[in-house]
Amino acid sequence: MKVMKFGGSSLADADRLQEVAALAQREAEAFGVMLVVSAPGGVTNLLEAAALAAVRGQTADLDELAARIDALLAALAPALAAEPQQALQAQWQQEREQLQRRLDGVALLARCPDEVMAEVLVTGERLSVACLKALLASQQVVAGELDPRQYFLAEGEPLSAQVQIEPSRARLAELDRGAHRIWLMPGFTAANAKGETVTLGRNGSDYSAAVLAACLHADLCEIWTDVDGVYNVDPRLIPDAQLLENLSYQEAMELSYFGAKVLHPRTIAPIAQHQIPCRIRNTLNPAAPGTLIHARTTPSRSLVKAISHLEGQTMVSVSGPGMKGMVGMAARVFDAMARSRISIALITQSSSEYSISFCIDSRLAGAARAALAEEFELELKQDLLEPIEMRHGLAIVSLVGDGMRTRKGVAARFFRSLAQANLSVVAIAQGSSERAISAVVDDAHAASALRLCHQNFFDARQSIDVVLIGAGNVGAELVRQIEAQQQALWDHNIALRLCGVANSRQMQLCASGLDLAQWRDNLKQQGEALDLDRLLAFAADARLVNPVLVDCTAEQSLADRYLEALNAGWHVVTPNKKANTGPWSDYLALRQAARDNRRQFLYETNVGAGLPVIDNLQGLLRAGDSLVRFEGILSGSLSYIFGLLEEGASLSEATLKAKAKGFTEPDPRDDLSGMDVARKVLILAREAGMALELDDIEVESVLPAEFDASGDVDAFLARLPQADAAIAARIEAAAKRGEVLRYVGSIEADGRCRVSLQAVAASHPLYAIKGGENALAFYSRYYQPLPFVLRGYGAGTEVTAAGVFADVLRTQSWQKEA
Ligand code: ADP
Ligand code: ASP
Ligand code: MG
Repeated sequence: MKVMKFGGSSLADADRLQEVAALAQREAEAFGVMLVVSAPGGVTNLLEAAALAAVRGQTADLDELAARIDALLAALAPALAAEPQQALQAQWQQEREQLQRRLDGVALLARCPDEVMAEVLVTGERLSVACLKALLASQQVVAGELDPRQYFLAEGEPLSAQVQIEPSRARLAELDRGAHRIWLMPGFTAANAKGETVTLGRNGSDYSAAVLAACLHADLCEIWTDVDGVYNVDPRLIPDAQLLENLSYQEAMELSYFGAKVLHPRTIAPIAQHQIPCRIRNTLNPAAPGTLIHARTTPSRSLVKAISHLEGQTMVSVSGPGMKGMVGMAARVFDAMARSRISIALITQSSSEYSISFCIDSRLAGAARAALAEEFELELKQDLLEPIEMRHGLAIVSLVGDGMRTRKGVAARFFRSLAQANLSVVAIAQGSSERAISAVVDDAHAASALRLCHQNFFDARQSIDVVLIGAGNVGAELVRQIEAQQQALWDHNIALRLCGVANSRQMQLCASGLDLAQWRDNLKQQGEALDLDRLLAFAADARLVNPVLVDCTAEQSLADRYLEALNAGWHVVTPNKKANTGPWSDYLALRQAARDNRRQFLYETNVGAGLPVIDNLQGLLRAGDSLVRFEGILSGSLSYIFGLLEEGASLSEATLKAKAKGFTEPDPRDDLSGMDVARKVLILAREAGMALELDDIEVESVLPAEFDASGDVDAFLARLPQADAAIAARIEAAAKRGEVLRYVGSIEADGRCRVSLQAVAASHPLYAIKGGENALAFYSRYYQPLPFVLRGYGAGTEVTAAGVFADVLRTQSWQKEA
């Protein structure tokens, strides 16, 4: 015989009810089945709300509940034969009248005694039984009805009672089980020794089923719900939670105790005691095998089997100088809690014995305070104890697994994960079973703690969540490259998502990732107005695990917000040079913020576009080398432009061509003025440890001094031909000497930095550098007299985007090391 329990979600509407009836009939062909049912989803909440409204004197109003049940019965009607349909309607009318009478009484008294509340609450379960009975009767199946109030003897709180197994078993022995193939029993319901109705606590139908299975020595107890089984973490919070094939009784107990809602915490004890296997299954997917809970344990590959969390906790601390000598303090604290029927989720004691702290459900905080005040009245008066301290708004995050008992290193990894989430741990505790280790954190941080723990303990796949600002050439190309590479990365266990894009007007954010094929249209049509505050808060709001902010603009206003972004948990990746060329103090502050927040600030494309300049330079310097002198062509656009000039093009023609190829900055004046190269030289010099400012760089513009470079980009370009003649003259003069003009950036040994036009002869290494190429020669302690040289395309949309992409991925390797 097996017990099958169906939860509220499996009984929420007429279709589901019919599926349950059909499922029970199929199962009954092989076994006798006992169905334990919850109320249709949401109905218990409506009943409770109606009772509480009545207490407040609001005219007891059953309209909402009645509408819900009426609709359910109407939808069920076509599946019912005439007689069962009438019987069901009649029972509902009767229940409704009885409910109304009870609520009128409550309204009159202005209070709702627990026994009355219990009667009201269990109505939903009875209605589920009535519906299933009618459905089965319509198929000529006469199901037996089992009233738990006759059989389950319960003790304790009337709204959270516990069933006594032995006396209940004795009563059930009198039942003629063979009389029916299918039995129906409302869950959540029992009666106390006085015969009054009690409930087994919210979500308590699981426990009803376990008790029934234990009393009847069932072969199997099945809990049918709306998920495929028990997952290693709450699947509502972590979409890639993994389904568990099996769990030991102890593991299941710890998990439910620490908050996994899929099982009521009391469920496991009765079935564990009587060694009844239990399977969690999905009504929506009956073909799935579900999760088996049984005596044996199968260690998972990861030491930790699952993670759970319990919200709405308050930490109570009892402390004071008097605690040291006092004998039995802990016992008195916990006795006081037990007398007030407050259950304790977790305890920690400081080694000095000066304080005891424990977590309880926040709803019981008032009662706990009163109980402690009474117990320690004297000690509090004499200042032997500090005032009782209560910290609200906490959550307990727990790792659970039998394998944790024998393997080391779990705690270290746990705390590393919590540190990575950048949250502080209020308290820690390890259960005496050693199957669980828990940390108390702020409620607001619980979800990110879960995410990081899940990633570090279970997920070989690392996620990177990119939000891109700047949808111009480089930005758009980056998205294209991400799209092309996404699958290959996935195959290498990297889940790279584009979770947001923004241009100067609009933004679109989506934590699960944007559609890369349509992003531009979607941004235009569905995007909202750009709001940088909200965008920066998105990492925390959407609880992104590894958020990377990519700034593909050249805006100062964005660079000004990197500090804030790092502090908000973002890695920052950018080709934008503005942040690295602002005041030296800001430059240092950014790096400090990145270190403090354990985030990366990466800007490889600031110099030499996709060429690995910064990384190599940093590598050399870290290995003890030092920069002596630097010389190079650092501007892809000027390299390209001067190549064309040599071939006879005018400056204005060459500039337009370079712009069309995406080689120039958005405003080509940044290139022609030399400012862009000056910034790059400054970045290299700072990288080498020189505390310089942009003003310290000597800059010779490509444009003649008398040229008017004002106005917007178009006006400037229209005027540019006026500068053609002066440049052409210099080119010609150089050519006469067999030389060409190159725009060179240099750092001298004495720290002097310059960018200037130089005429170089054919023998000079920079003579051949044109067509968009960059060449960088580093003379260092290790590399001289021959320099360390990097050469290659130093501008262009594709190489720049690829460099940014590489930085985005580098945020990841850092995470693994951390
Ligand atoms: P029922 O109405 O069937 O009793 P519940 O809502 O009480 O269903 O419990 C099932 C829900 O528990 C799932 O929908 C899921 O969201 C939640 N849940 C929380 N933690 C877990 C977990 N570790 N594994 C599976 N489900 C979980
Ligand atoms: N119907 C009850 C509740 O909602 C019991 C249960 O669903 O298990 O709490
Ligand atoms: Mg439940």
